[in-house]
Amino acid sequence: MKKVSRRQFLATSAVAAMYGYSGYALANNGKTRTEPSSSLPWSNWSGNVVGYPQGRISPNSDDELAKYLKSTSGSIRPVGSGHSFAPLVPTTGNIIVADQFNGLIGHDSEKMTATFGAGTRLSDMGAALQQVGQAFFNLPDIDRQTLAGATATATHGTGINFQCLSGYITHVRLISPQGEQIDIDETSDPALFNAARVSLGALGVITQITLKNRSPYRLKQRSWVENTNHVLDNFDQHAASHRHFEILPLTHSDYSFVVSTDETDEPINNPPPSLEEEAAMGAAMRSWMEIPPEDRPPLINGLAEQIQPSEKIDESYKVLTNIRNNRFNEMEYAVPLEAGADCLREILNTIRDKKIDVVFPLEYRYVSRDDTLLSMSSGHEDHAAISVHRVASEDYRPYFDLIEPIFWKYGGRPHWGKIHTLGAPELAKLYPRFNDFKSIRKQLDPRGRMLNDHLRTLFGES
Ligand SMILES: Cc1cc2nc3c(=O)[nH]c(=O)nc-3n(C[C@H](O)[C@H](O)[C@H](O)COP(=O)(O)OP(=O)(O)OC[C@H]3O[C@@H](n4cnc5c(N)ncnc54)[C@H](O)[C@@H]3O)c2cc1C
Repeated sequence: MKKVSRRQFLATSAVAAMYGYSGYALANNGKTRTEPSSSLPWSNWSGNVVGYPQGRISPNSDDELAKYLKSTSGSIRPVGSGHSFAPLVPTTGNIIVADQFNGLIGHDSEKMTATFGAGTRLSDMGAALQQVGQAFFNLPDIDRQTLAGATATATHGTGINFQCLSGYITHVRLISPQGEQIDIDETSDPALFNAARVSLGALGVITQITLKNRSPYRLKQRSWVENTNHVLDNFDQHAASHRHFEILPLTHSDYSFVVSTDETDEPINNPPPSLEEEAAMGAAMRSWMEIPPEDRPPLINGLAEQIQPSEKIDESYKVLTNIRNNRFNEMEYAVPLEAGADCLREILNTIRDKKIDVVFPLEYRYVSRDDTLLSMSSGHEDHAAISVHRVASEDYRPYFDLIEPIFWKYGGRPHWGKIHTLGAPELAKLYPRFNDFKSIRKQLDPRGRMLNDHLRTLFGES
């Protein structure tokens, strides 16, 4: 067997899964749709959420947006780049696109803050920040999200010392559902500030966001394969000794991909992955997918043992994020840090014992606490975020339905942008300030024009 890198394995495991068989494939793959109308459909990144909005509004200024909101009363939903798996966006009214609120608006070199249009993609921000002598503290796994979209769901990366992106917000400009412009920071209105930093697009349309940043830096990322139990036993030490640390446990295997990331002054060395090697690896994996699941563990362990350690060095924003070309659906919960390893082990054992036919690795990350009202990591304790994935062409429901109660058992809170089945009664128990958010939402949007069916379930509104 040819030696492979983690990057090749990850890219090709999704490809292999697409060609493999699944006991769970159902006709509609769990898609969420609103009723068709005469308008064009809107779909999210993975294709599991499809809606038929009346229209698409793309205002070019705060004034134009305010005028539109003042002169209309119908349902609206703001949309970013559609990278959420949860049905946050679909509406029978209009979707509001903030793509004209784009780019760097200004920066403050003393305070190390920078203000961007809320529709700016994270992928356009790293280089712009570097030009003004600033850099993100942390980033999520990909950078295709918009700034408003990513922060609306408390999108996070990994690192025990790093909050979700919303934790770095110092100012938000919100245009309320009635068209009132509200500039919010910690001193102007602390309660509204903590609500607006993770708003699920339920408080109004955000048009600009200011982030606290740091000076530019370079990162060295190392990846290798290690026994999952071994690395979990020592996870806290690794998390404390590396700037970023995470594992991607392989299903039906004793092994995980391990990724550590630290600051460095070493020269840039970040070669792109080879497409030819990815294709060869994909072919190899498709052949072992034909073997029954119960016979696979020795094969997967054997394959994992072949994987060579790899490393890359580049500017921080180029190392922290990845390209994910293979579409998938995802469920992610954050559990209190001390419950993380037990919860992950129970999930892996369940996948093995129930012979769930899934080859997609899980993801296990640490996220620091923050004081927003609704982030998964808000409150007094740090959290471990655990994700399960299924290739987009397969029905995720039987797999996710089996795993979700395990998250509940460990006090897990769902990622707002990912698939989960919780509603207001359960969420109120998980978030001590859930009702504060609901009151603020009601004050700003008494007629509920920003609600869709999913948000009504989340907030218990009829
Ligand atoms: C491949 C992939 C990898 C991912 N990796 C991670 C990860 O590493 N960590 C993580 O935490 N999450 C991750 N996610 C989830 C993703 O970051 C979130 O779902 C994020 O919210 C998507 O941002 P978006 O710009 O696509 O927004 P959308 O999905 O379009 O919208 C998300 C929410 O933002 C609201 N919104 C959008 N624009 C505005 C606005 N201008 N004003 C007010 N509200 C607005 C919407 O109404 C909606 O409620 C990943 C998703 C994918 C598909």
